[in-house]
Amino acid sequence: MDLRPPIVRKLLQHLERLPGVGPRTAQRLAEHLLTIDPEDLSAFAEVLAGLREAVCLCSECCLLTEDDPCVVCSDPGRDRRLILVVEEPTTAWSVEATGEYGGLYHALLGHLSPLHGVGPDDLTIARLENRCRSGDVEEVILATDPTVEGETTALFIARRLQPIGVK
Ligand code: ZN
Repeated sequence: MDLRPPIVRKLLQHLERLPGVGPRTAQRLAEHLLTIDPEDLSAFAEVLAGLREAVCLCSECCLLTEDDPCVVCSDPGRDRRLILVVEEPTTAWSVEATGEYGGLYHALLGHLSPLHGVGPDDLTIARLENRCRSGDVEEVILATDPTVEGETTALFIARRLQPIGVK
């Protein structure tokens, strides 16, 4: 007999779909959620329910943001001559946390992967080119992931940006 109430079973199904969460971790998390303060649980549920609607991509740099343009793009104190290119928006969070970078960002939203059918048009490379052409951009730092795909993507972008004349 399955003693788990149907709603708990549903919760477990959702938890188990999270990366790195197996059935045992899911059960531990469910036990935790069933015993915490109901107000905390409601607050958590509210965050989950509003997450996708609240967060969008910055129309300039493709970082995740609630306001468009994002806090970086709309900050007059940032160095607009510099763009750091990352694959995923979350990588910019880690770079920013070091407190050592004062330029702008650009998230590609992935890397080139011909095997999986991901070409230049599936990434935000054209948008990056436009930014380099129109803005005050002088230098682009390619900080793609240290993988074969990441290196290939960086090389591809370097070639595409060459005629524009940015470093
Ligand atoms: Zn932005």
